[in-house]
Amino acid sequence: MIYDIIIIGGGPAGLTAGLYGSRARMKTLIIEKGDAGGQIATTFEVDNYPGSMEKCTGPVLAQRMKDQALSFGTEFVKEEIKKIEKKNEIFYLETDKNKYEAKAVIVATGSLSRDIGCKGEKEFRGMGVSYCATCDGFFFQGLTVVVVGGGDAAIDEGIFLTKFAKKVIIVHRRNELRAAKSLQEKARANPKIEFILDTVVEEIKGNGVVSTVTLKNVKTGELKDISADGVFVFIGYSPNSALVKEFVKTDEIGFIIGDEKMQTLTPGLFVAGDVRRKMLRQVVTAVADGAIAAVSAEAYIDHLSE
Ligand code: NAP
Repeated sequence: MIYDIIIIGGGPAGLTAGLYGSRARMKTLIIEKGDAGGQIATTFEVDNYPGSMEKCTGPVLAQRMKDQALSFGTEFVKEEIKKIEKKNEIFYLETDKNKYEAKAVIVATGSLSRDIGCKGEKEFRGMGVSYCATCDGFFFQGLTVVVVGGGDAAIDEGIFLTKFAKKVIIVHRRNELRAAKSLQEKARANPKIEFILDTVVEEIKGNGVVSTVTLKNVKTGELKDISADGVFVFIGYSPNSALVKEFVKTDEIGFIIGDEKMQTLTPGLFVAGDVRRKMLRQVVTAVADGAIAAVSAEAYIDHLSE
């Protein structure tokens, strides 16, 4: 049995592509290796997605998106794609469990959190070093944590962590934050948050669990040890594009280049969401990509059968 559209990735972009594909009566399957929702599944509050006010958490929004897609007939499997081939206009996808065929593929694989790359980061991963406040914040009740980064994620998750930690120290490499001004104001008004600017993490130390973080002032070169029980890293993301690299053109970082129809270099292979090269990576742009990719895939499939 051949699917019309197979979507790789079940974040907001993939789920929206599923919704639009199924509503167009395309036989649509989403293949996702983890749980649905992508990055928003581990995001505290999504207050900049129109309509999602009043403490709408990421996991709630993700579940609603999934339910909506399923209600229109999108199929969803939790499997990991290992191989993709294209022969005679058909895409052949092999997962860890099954083989699938599709007329069009939408790549919505998102991106992965970036590492600091400092000494001790790998060693203490899961022992105080975390990349997900929603997952691990609870373990830092009454403790001190360092948050690394100056973007929306770092500030948003830093605010979230004040629910548990007694002190949140945000360490950012420049003297200006990148985050939205409203988030910055909220963080600065929070008495539990402290900022250390122009500074990077040089080393994470401890005895079994994190106890000390060595900071380096990038202007003076001065090194300083501070006591901390945890380090939360939010310094951006790297695109998950390796799987399809032979089918697409990417930029120098690996973000996939798509045109305004989300079409990539390979006819029938579309891209959507955070894995695409674009200027704004938000839920609102991911869902827009997903909708466009699905409509473009439908038009492509209609054209195939002409
Ligand atoms: P981001 O906007 O790319 O910010 C990454 C931050 O990490 C920047 O401040 C950057 O510093 C810093 N950084 C990068 N590499 C570093 C390194 N090697 N060492 C130290 N610091 C480093 O990423 P993000 O905050 O994860 O957000 C990603 C996207 O998701 C954005 O579009 C964001 O708006 C969106 N998002 C939105 C929300 C929300 O609105 N609630 C929440 C989360 C994410 P520089 O500033 O010096 O480059």
